[in-house]
Amino acid sequence: MEYSIEKAKELVISAGKMLAESGLIARTWGNISARTSDKKFAITPSGLAYETLTPEQIVVVNIADCSYDGNIKPSSEKGIHADIYRLCPEVNFIIHTHQVMASVLSIEGKDIEVHNDEYKRILGDKVHCAAYGISSTKKLRKRVAEAISNYPESQSILMKNHGTICMGFNLEHSFEIALTLEKMAKEMYETACGDDKEQITQILDYGKSWRKEDTFILECDGKTFEYRIDELPKDTPKVALLHADIYKLGNAGHIIHSTDEEVVKVSSTGKVLRPFLDDLAQIVGVNIKTVKKGLINMKAISKELKNKNAVLLENEGALCTGATKSDTEAASMILRKGCAADLYASALNITDHISIADAYVQRFFYITKYSKMKR
Ligand SMILES: [Zn+2]
Repeated sequence: MEYSIEKAKELVISAGKMLAESGLIARTWGNISARTSDKKFAITPSGLAYETLTPEQIVVVNIADCSYDGNIKPSSEKGIHADIYRLCPEVNFIIHTHQVMASVLSIEGKDIEVHNDEYKRILGDKVHCAAYGISSTKKLRKRVAEAISNYPESQSILMKNHGTICMGFNLEHSFEIALTLEKMAKEMYETACGDDKEQITQILDYGKSWRKEDTFILECDGKTFEYRIDELPKDTPKVALLHADIYKLGNAGHIIHSTDEEVVKVSSTGKVLRPFLDDLAQIVGVNIKTVKKGLINMKAISKELKNKNAVLLENEGALCTGATKSDTEAASMILRKGCAADLYASALNITDHISIADAYVQRFFYITKYSKMKR
């Protein structure tokens, strides 16, 4: 059943909050819409936080040509939503997410057979995968439309190296699809990668810190310290020297040491982490290097963080940076997902990363767009 415009706006707002709470998305990564008639739908705006959306910020878009009323820009993926409403008359609610496990599975670029009866009831026999296209491009829109035209009975679509689209007959149904897909994807990931809790050897604490004008506060080994960035006393511990070095680059406001299991595992391979997922390239960086024996190579760490938001530390996880606390946490979360994708790729011998050109283009656009946004 389609919704009245008021009801659609209200449901899109509550779905945004529900998605953020469910852990399926973080910040505004993803988009949500509800059908209001056979000609229109209401969709989340581009780049505004889900937690504080108001009905005035939800944009009503025409299915036929994606034109919209008012001066708030709808999500840049409005074309994909419009195509789905056109091609699937029974779909009334769409959620696009970058949910962790289903996104990781998308890197294989294959349709997934659903075996479990409980999952089949919600997802159907197969979850189809749309071929790759960079987000917000005509190419991606075309690829998703192809996948849906070929399999109009699909409840959900994987977008290769990107995320998912869940298409329900109402809000609850779309959520059920997203959550079931994530549960199934997690099981498949664990089957491929094993859920062995490898003994992680003692990891050095590289601390976390935040900048306050000319000083920074460092929390390390359970203690808190404050240092002036340019005036470090002679006996300053190496970890503090490292944080000061990173702040001297001028772009970081926060630094965290990620010791997530997936990140530590990838850091122990000593590799350069090339992106399998769009958001890793956009938000963290394109080729994330592993610095050998971290504290001995402090200069190498800060060099890596000049144009990227993370650097891997051999056997010891990664350091992530960002302008704000939430940016830094986001970088750390995306890095964890990017590392999970890398482990999944190694387990299944998947080698088709996002091309270097596509990865750099996305990083460039993300940095340019983000630097213009008010925060
Ligand atoms: Zn997306």
